[in-house]
Amino acid sequence: MTKHIFITGGVVSSLGKGLTAAAIGWILERLGFKVSMQKLDPYINVDPGTMSPFQHGEVYVTDDGTEADLDLGHYERFTNAKIGAHSNYTTGKIYRSVIRKERRGDYLGSTVQVIPHITDEIKEAIKLGVTEGTDVAITEIGGTIGDIESLPFVEAIRQFSLDNGPRDCLFIHLTLLPFLRASGELKTKPTQQSVGKLREIGIQPQILICRTEKPMSPDMPAKISLFCNVRKEAVIEERDVDFSIYEVPVDLIRAGLPQQILDHLDLEPKKELNVDDWYRLLETVKHPTHTIEVAVAGKYIELHDAYKSIYESLHHAGIANSCKVKLRKVSAEQVADRGAEQLLDGVDAILVPGGFGERGFEGKIQAIRYARENHIPFLGICYGMQAAVVEYARHVCGIDDATTAEFEPEAPHQVINLMEEQKNLKDLGGTMRLGAFDCELDEDTLSRHAYGYESISERHRHRYEFNNAYREQLTAAGLRVAGVNPHLDLVEIVELSPAIHPWFVGVQFHPEYKTKPQQPHPLFRDFVGAAIAHRERVGAGSS
Ligand code: GLN
Repeated sequence: MTKHIFITGGVVSSLGKGLTAAAIGWILERLGFKVSMQKLDPYINVDPGTMSPFQHGEVYVTDDGTEADLDLGHYERFTNAKIGAHSNYTTGKIYRSVIRKERRGDYLGSTVQVIPHITDEIKEAIKLGVTEGTDVAITEIGGTIGDIESLPFVEAIRQFSLDNGPRDCLFIHLTLLPFLRASGELKTKPTQQSVGKLREIGIQPQILICRTEKPMSPDMPAKISLFCNVRKEAVIEERDVDFSIYEVPVDLIRAGLPQQILDHLDLEPKKELNVDDWYRLLETVKHPTHTIEVAVAGKYIELHDAYKSIYESLHHAGIANSCKVKLRKVSAEQVADRGAEQLLDGVDAILVPGGFGERGFEGKIQAIRYARENHIPFLGICYGMQAAVVEYARHVCGIDDATTAEFEPEAPHQVINLMEEQKNLKDLGGTMRLGAFDCELDEDTLSRHAYGYESISERHRHRYEFNNAYREQLTAAGLRVAGVNPHLDLVEIVELSPAIHPWFVGVQFHPEYKTKPQQPHPLFRDFVGAAIAHRERVGAGSS
């Protein structure tokens, strides 16, 4: 029998609900339970695939090709939950399904309403999110309690708990205790009001997780307990972390959260909680042997969430190399305006991430040229790999007007273009290569060396490909094709030989979606390793 945890948020957005949900999943796995993780998003878009990264952060992609909310990235980095199409539902996705049913006549002429039709659809989605063998299913409700948009979801989880046994569902509410500098104290009123809103709808949270920048005073849990009708021991402090988000789960353990969850859901742990390895990992984060600086030259650098998974991948790779990875976020457009030398001088490695459209493309080309010519370790991801191919074609092969068909569809030398089958499609919607695809690695390449085996599977999200018509010319000029999709004969990885450049790799896929703090992605791990070697080389040269 699966137990359910529902996580809501109150007072303000951006409290780190996704992170807290993921940390709870992590704790339950450490207690021996199998978990599933799901996010319900109140916005109307059917999925975030069409939303601007500037507004919503990165689009996270799962193995099955679902374009999803970035919180699913936290879920995958913290837990082993199987994440896919049912792990993320939005209001748009729910309504689309209900309206389709209505048009088909499934409701037999009844008036279709929020209650029960929309709420039934949400309850169905919650059940679909439970993967086989799950002991505890964790569902995070996006948005903030009190928002108009989230009401049907909150109503649905209330009904869901009513449909199940009294110890089968647990409501955890994440809230904020703001610190007032003038009076030097934490305030509980917003929390009281937010819990009041939940209780109006008929939900009594059993656990409150209180985000705070200062420790709670000893009398606060009792006060919150009294006003919010939550047991004192179930008022859990979640203080701002000092140096890494990976402190969150152990902080929650120290605050007594696991016992509260076990008690409320009437669960016996299957394993003794042992987190010694995690403390060791945090020690490495606190006291790294090396420090390097990596430039990320992209289009959306103003918003940290736009490249969330990439930054996390670098963090994990840093842990594996006992290295602090400092980020230099560089606007690709600025590189084009002010020159690579000025913005990239002194970095130990350069990463060019994925993207779409013309803006920033020339800046990416310049950043890549700078990395290639100055022997700075380089990792190009998706658009970054495509730009690396264009750069090589232009500056090494002498195809001066080499470009991508993405924004120059009539250009004569498109070294990046659409696959044959896609060329006649007028509507580009749904034509992206999405989700997991196989790739075979060539022997004796940097990639093969990193992965340690021949056949890999990585996640994709793009429309354009390396144009095979230029393969011979580019490889003859020294660009190595290190990985190929065996079914479609598509180039997935390009590299330069270590004889030419210490570490230069471009990948058509998104390695950043497959990394965990204790299992860093092999390419990121070696990229950071190469950056450390670069720093040592440069240091030795200057002394
Ligand atoms: N714009 C490129 C394409 O569609 C790359 C996409 C990406 O970087 N995710 O092929």
